[in-house]
Amino acid sequence: MLSGPASTVLLPHGLFDEDGRCHRLAELRPLTGREEWALADAGNHPDPRAVSALLAACLGRLGDFPSVDAPLAAALTRGDRHHLALHLRARLYGDRLTLVARCPSPGCGAMADVDVRLSALAPERPDAAPEVLRVALPEGPAEVREPTGEDDAVLARAEGSREERSALLWSRLVEVAGQPLSPEGWRALPARSRHAVALALAEGTTAPDLGLVARCPRCEAWLELELEPFALLARELRGGAARLETEVHVLAFHYHWSETDILALPRARRWRYLELLRRELDGRPLVDGWS
Ligand SMILES: [Zn+2]
Repeated sequence: MLSGPASTVLLPHGLFDEDGRCHRLAELRPLTGREEWALADAGNHPDPRAVSALLAACLGRLGDFPSVDAPLAAALTRGDRHHLALHLRARLYGDRLTLVARCPSPGCGAMADVDVRLSALAPERPDAAPEVLRVALPEGPAEVREPTGEDDAVLARAEGSREERSALLWSRLVEVAGQPLSPEGWRALPARSRHAVALALAEGTTAPDLGLVARCPRCEAWLELELEPFALLARELRGGAARLETEVHVLAFHYHWSETDILALPRARRWRYLELLRRELDGRPLVDGWS
């Protein structure tokens, strides 16, 4: 069966509470039809706040937190959120993923398949991560933390050039000599110091590495692509939206359940009912390609 009851996922980073204790063990429930639908509707780049709402809906316990609401899901690091998305995807469609990329070489443009195993992208990391990373700068000791869903939500709404938005993000992540930075303060740091902070974060991050490379089958050029887990999940769910509609139709028609009740079921339960229905109807297929 493709999806089942709640499972536990060890977050690579985890959520630090006010006492500095880290909570990493998350209970992950399968998506219900409603969440599948919402994500399928979320467009090519799901909004970070919509992602927080989705994660809140499918996360149960998180360490000592009995439940996770949207603000708590927004406080998770970007890496932890991606890690959870890869787990959700693996449970819906399996561990294997084939991406198709177009070769960027001028005059080539061949399509290349890139095969990925999600379990290899998001391995379990038994070692605890620090809450912040420390870097010694000429300006004083600096601390940098990983970006969270809330940082991404602020960034998604920020105006300005790419450089201004980048300065806004760094100003949220970095403190120098115990003092928070403004975006201007970040930009006023010497390039060497900004580079040292970026390097510390790149080396110390617990986020899954989503940069993929493959060889073009025609010209052997290297293809690079960046996997966006929530965009991938949204795209795949959109592809299955017509089937979900059919599932709702068939279950509503035969059981007289409301759409709301049917969409509250995770996929495995819907498929189980459809299987029982199929047997009941004496092997007569309800929709093409069902059995
Ligand atoms: Zn090529």
